[in-house]
Amino acid sequence: MSSETKSSSVFTFKKDQPLSLKWKWGIFLSLAMIMLSFISLLIYRQLTIQMYDEQSKESHQMQFEFLIKGLSDQDQPFQAQQFLDQNEQDSETKVKFLIDHYSNDQTIIRLYSPEQKLLNESQHFQYPIGSSSKELERQNIKGKNYLIGSSRISSRINQELLGIVQYIVLPEAKVAYVQKLNYFLIRCFLITTLISILCGFLIAHYFLRPLTYVINTLDLLEGDTLSQVRVVRPRTNDEWSDLSLHVNKLLDKIELYVKGQKQFVEDVSHELRTPVAIVEGHLKMLNRWGKEDQQVLDESISASLQEITRMKELVQEMLDLSRADHVDVDYKDEVTEITTAASLVHHNFEILYPNFHFYLDNEKSKNVYVNIYHHHFEQILVILLDNAVKYSTDRPEIHISVSQTMNKVEIAVQDFGEGMTAEDKERVFSRFYRVDKARARAKGGNGLGLSIAKQLVEGYHGKIRVESVYQRGSIFYVEFPILTDQHLIYKSERIAKELAKEEK
Ligand code: ADP
Repeated sequence: MSSETKSSSVFTFKKDQPLSLKWKWGIFLSLAMIMLSFISLLIYRQLTIQMYDEQSKESHQMQFEFLIKGLSDQDQPFQAQQFLDQNEQDSETKVKFLIDHYSNDQTIIRLYSPEQKLLNESQHFQYPIGSSSKELERQNIKGKNYLIGSSRISSRINQELLGIVQYIVLPEAKVAYVQKLNYFLIRCFLITTLISILCGFLIAHYFLRPLTYVINTLDLLEGDTLSQVRVVRPRTNDEWSDLSLHVNKLLDKIELYVKGQKQFVEDVSHELRTPVAIVEGHLKMLNRWGKEDQQVLDESISASLQEITRMKELVQEMLDLSRADHVDVDYKDEVTEITTAASLVHHNFEILYPNFHFYLDNEKSKNVYVNIYHHHFEQILVILLDNAVKYSTDRPEIHISVSQTMNKVEIAVQDFGEGMTAEDKERVFSRFYRVDKARARAKGGNGLGLSIAKQLVEGYHGKIRVESVYQRGSIFYVEFPILTDQHLIYKSERIAKELAKEEK
């Protein structure tokens, strides 16, 4: 494993590169959580202050009412002397006692005579008497929030007006409370920020971990395409697991493809070695002593030409094989009428091999349309008929039949020649496979015909198989899905549209 591979992770900073996905998600999630906790703390703060306001108003309201009740127990109007000498009458002591009891640093009590003359105040405070109300109300004075109530006091003993009492709650108490609350909330915010950052990065790391598996695997494969290493599939049954599965499938395909290519190159060089060696041998022979010998010269030239023709054919066949790879994409709109195409090839073979008997049975099949390029269909049939001719022995007879089921058409090519063993039947569709190499070579076979046919048939979603009895003969079956009327209409409409587009 290269050092580069080891350090490969989506959670790293790379010079001159944008932030990795994990960092981005880590930052994004942390910020989102910080925002969320900030908003929650703000809401909490607002609600707490509101609750404090309500509770403090309620408790002060109660105090104020108790004070009013206590003061109304007198039978004499309030007088200034009551606050000068403490040791006079009972009533005088009680008024002073009440005011001392209910007032404190944050609560001021002011007492007026019935003539609205200020008699006493627990702390100096400038404020008019205002209208009489037992209800404490919020008043904003110079930007500060005060809770103020004024009430006329009538004696419960003789109903006489005793005076006016004013109850003032200073805002300092609330300011101190809010300050304490703020300190507490700032501490909470700092802790939640830390937790958010930690959680944000942990979540990002956890959810993006499968991506690291994919990147590390691809890094490893970059060094060795044929490596067997695959992406670790997460145990979760989610999209990451699907992605790993698909990536692994793709890697399997790539491995197969690379191996196939490698094998193909090896096979081709192996196949080319023999004709090249033959041509080289003849040229060397000519070089040594054949230049003057007309017979050696003629023989060598004709043998070399034969080998070169073989090489040309081999190259053409290899080209066909590679083109047969993506016919379903390149020729997806091609349509061929099978019965007519089969008759055409049959007719050509009759002319080409007059000493053979070719029988065509296509009576029951009329106008069978298949999605295949007509040249490719002919090529498949030519390969099968060529083989049938090549591997026929003493009975020069070949049967071609076209038969049709509900949604499939089957073309069979039968000969009465060499046939093949069960083992060979499995392998004849492999590239460069020949049952008897020397004999096939003598007959001009490169072992590519059936693999081209198979690739083409499968490219058009068909099937190819063989039934054979050794030394009795073989039947090759090719099967294609038939195009329905709807398919044909759809295809012709699509072609028409594409043509119209091109014309524009
Ligand atoms: P080739 O060009 O050698 O014929 P093919 O791929 O067409 O290559 O065939 C592969 C091998 O399968 C042939 O070499 C031959 O041994 C065997 N084969 C193909 N067709 C027949 C047949 N009709 N009868 C007997 N053997 C056949």
